[in-house]
Amino acid sequence: MLFLDLSKMLEEIEKEPSRLKMMTLASQILDKTNEKEVDVLIYLLLGQFGATYKEIDFGIAEKTIISALSKATGMDKEKIEKELRKLGDMGLVGEQIISGKVQRSLFSKKLIVAEVYSSFEKLAKMAGKGSIDDKTNILVQMINNASPIEAKYIIRIAQKNMRLGLANSTIMDSLSLKFLKDYKENNIEEFEDLKKDYGEDVERYLRYKFKEKIESKYNIYPDLGSIAKKLFEKGSNGLRDIGITPFVPVMPALAERLPSIGKIIEKLGKSIVEPKFDGFRLQCHYDGKNVKLFTRNLEDMSEIFPDAVETIKKCVKKYPIIFECEAIGYNEKEDKYYPFQVTMKRKRKYDISGVSKQIPLRLVVFDIMYLKGGLIDKPLLERKKILESAMSPNKNLIFPENIYSDDVPRIQKFFERVLGEGNEGIMLKDPNSVYTAGARKFAWVKYKQSYSSKAKDTLDLLVMGYFSGKGQRSKFGIGALLVGSYNEKENRYESIAKLGSGLTEENLENLQKALTEIKEKEQPKEYVSGINPHVWVRPKYVVEVLYDEITKSPTHMCAKEEIGGLALRFPRLIKIRSDKNKGQVSTTKEVLGMFKLQ
Ligand code: AMP
Repeated sequence: MLFLDLSKMLEEIEKEPSRLKMMTLASQILDKTNEKEVDVLIYLLLGQFGATYKEIDFGIAEKTIISALSKATGMDKEKIEKELRKLGDMGLVGEQIISGKVQRSLFSKKLIVAEVYSSFEKLAKMAGKGSIDDKTNILVQMINNASPIEAKYIIRIAQKNMRLGLANSTIMDSLSLKFLKDYKENNIEEFEDLKKDYGEDVERYLRYKFKEKIESKYNIYPDLGSIAKKLFEKGSNGLRDIGITPFVPVMPALAERLPSIGKIIEKLGKSIVEPKFDGFRLQCHYDGKNVKLFTRNLEDMSEIFPDAVETIKKCVKKYPIIFECEAIGYNEKEDKYYPFQVTMKRKRKYDISGVSKQIPLRLVVFDIMYLKGGLIDKPLLERKKILESAMSPNKNLIFPENIYSDDVPRIQKFFERVLGEGNEGIMLKDPNSVYTAGARKFAWVKYKQSYSSKAKDTLDLLVMGYFSGKGQRSKFGIGALLVGSYNEKENRYESIAKLGSGLTEENLENLQKALTEIKEKEQPKEYVSGINPHVWVRPKYVVEVLYDEITKSPTHMCAKEEIGGLALRFPRLIKIRSDKNKGQVSTTKEVLGMFKLQ
């Protein structure tokens, strides 16, 4: 496909506010492509480069783009910077400058999607001395061959910010739409059956079911590019080829919540109860030789935790294996875990060996998804047995203590004891549950410290923007954050609170650094908010927020359509959740559920 044709279609998506129409536009793009380039196309639509778990980092700063534009057009860097201040988006600046360029380069040739993508791949591999110049030159070449609209999207690719507002779920919708006819032909009996129940609505329902199938494959193989390629190659039956695979992370199972231990036992019955450790989740893959470690955001952290890699090589006896644990900084001398903030220091990318000696990690292994074959459909009790047979624990790798009970006072006592030992709370797990990859399905229910003190609870919310600070806080430029929940159905973030309490100097300093890098001139397309912050930011950072109560409010947009708006009373920041990303924000549906439980 010509990059120009794609750019025009991307622009249509960018201007389109309706999710349904965006889905149709995205499937029109799919109609124009083939199995050779569909994966690349999907990554571009999602504004990511490669599957989420092995995304390519280009290492291109704004400065590099400015020099490339200046080299390609002969315009002064200062002038470009001035335009940027005016337009607030480098892509628009590029588009404008190129459209003003009188004469296009003599060598200008038509750009092809796959070639643009591979130029970026080449550029991503460049490292070390002189690489900035080489990267700039590749950009210059592309920009030289680009029309104004192509320049806009080349720059946005370089910045990894396509501003299309397309989410995974819209792409899955588009794929299900494109292959619906084929799915129907392959599942004609199911179709006839559904027709009896759904009459005229049958096509819509069938598409919904097909999308669910795509999604369940995505949950065990989170690479929509590869999934789309399989569909293009083999039609809807191609999904059968996709299975759980070592070194491809599984989407982590998620925990539900309920307000009391009694309610949890009512729902789950006799449960496996474990401490909820306050570290970060790691998914470990090992084939007897290599180890790969993924965070819950599917980031590959294998290089950053060399001590965990060694521990796994020492303790794990059976493979190929995929298992899950909570990693926590462990103070061996005092035989205690470090608090979350200390453990999180392990996530940095410099002085790895120093910090791993200072704060060694202990892995508390709690689940297994694969051992010489997929295990996610086996009940938890059976998985636990397999897990225990596959490794020999030592001081750096342990299995969590647990009780198996439906006795509420006994569980309450266990809860209080493990809290005293520095844990966050408890996890109650249904012994018969399968591993619910990527889903929250009452297989696990968490019960945290904050729940026990009257109606206090926490939510993981997206930072949508900030209000500038007054007094003490003016030096950081941030006085409060605008935070929101995620509405899965509409793929948008809905404001729920202005968060000013609990922001320590350290938080403010970190937030200032992080948020200024992702400032947006205009309200991002996927936000709805009743109030406007001074500065909008791209959807990226997640904060854990404690509150006293969820109240109805006309000011905020959370569950506006369902109930007229919800807000948090007395919100305060607990921590910046650097282990979570925009896909793991508490959903509007969850908030609504919690509002009704109060
Ligand atoms: P939350 O992040 O509050 O939704 O809680 C789920 C997280 O708790 C998981 O992602 C794990 O990182 C963590 N966790 C701590 N202890 C356990 C445990 N025993 N079983 C499962 N998850 C645990």
